[in-house]
Amino acid sequence: MIVIKTRTELEKMRRSGMLVHNILKALGEMAVEGVSTWDLEVAAVKMMQDAGAKPAFKGYYVPAAGERFKYVLCTSVNDEIVHGMPNPKRILKKGDIVSIDTGVSLDGYFGDSAITVGIGELSEQAKKLLAVTRESLELAIDKVREGNRLFDICGTVEEYVVKNGFSIVREYVGHGIGTQLHEEPQVPNYVDKRNENPRLREGMVLAIEPMVNAGRPEAKVLKDKWTAVAKDGSYSAHFEHCVAVTKNGPWVLTRP
Ligand code: MG
Ligand code: MG
Repeated sequence: MIVIKTRTELEKMRRSGMLVHNILKALGEMAVEGVSTWDLEVAAVKMMQDAGAKPAFKGYYVPAAGERFKYVLCTSVNDEIVHGMPNPKRILKKGDIVSIDTGVSLDGYFGDSAITVGIGELSEQAKKLLAVTRESLELAIDKVREGNRLFDICGTVEEYVVKNGFSIVREYVGHGIGTQLHEEPQVPNYVDKRNENPRLREGMVLAIEPMVNAGRPEAKVLKDKWTAVAKDGSYSAHFEHCVAVTKNGPWVLTRP
């Protein structure tokens, strides 16, 4: 069942969304050559504590991993797609791209967003990968309108990414969000006609999160049970926003 949120609930989600925005903005500026992904984690923990927010990811149980996630951030570098773990030994270097994904709950409502940041000068391909992934999310956000259907979002990401020569990760998808981090519906970055295609209604909130590989689409999970990487070792990018369906069009809760 897709949970419809009231205006009051959307205002609460806005608060958690803006906290996530502020954290990612700070971390994005902090992510430079020589900084470790653990440094980012430490800064995020502090910002969440200062805001009185609960981390959404830390303690989250994932059956496939068979354990709870231990960190407030997912930091996924280069060929890592999602669910990379902050690590003091993972020092960012020139030419790297790092996806920083985080979520919080404030007053019982969740926010979830991700950015991918380039470290120093990037290759032309990496620059294009970030631009295309970011733009596919923007185009999808514009489809978050009453009367459209879920596949309008999914198909928009897929079409733009494929047209630009990159590939869509199929193993991981976006999601509804509210009082739970992951709610219905699933929001794949591709159209699969076997899935349901609900009409978008005022008060739905979707976390749209294109995960795009520069090479082949296939993913695999490392022995650490969490880190998903591109099987062919190609770079992978990830951007995410929470978007509410309103009478006035899309409301991106995770940015000003
Ligand atoms: Mg998400
Ligand atoms: Mg996320």
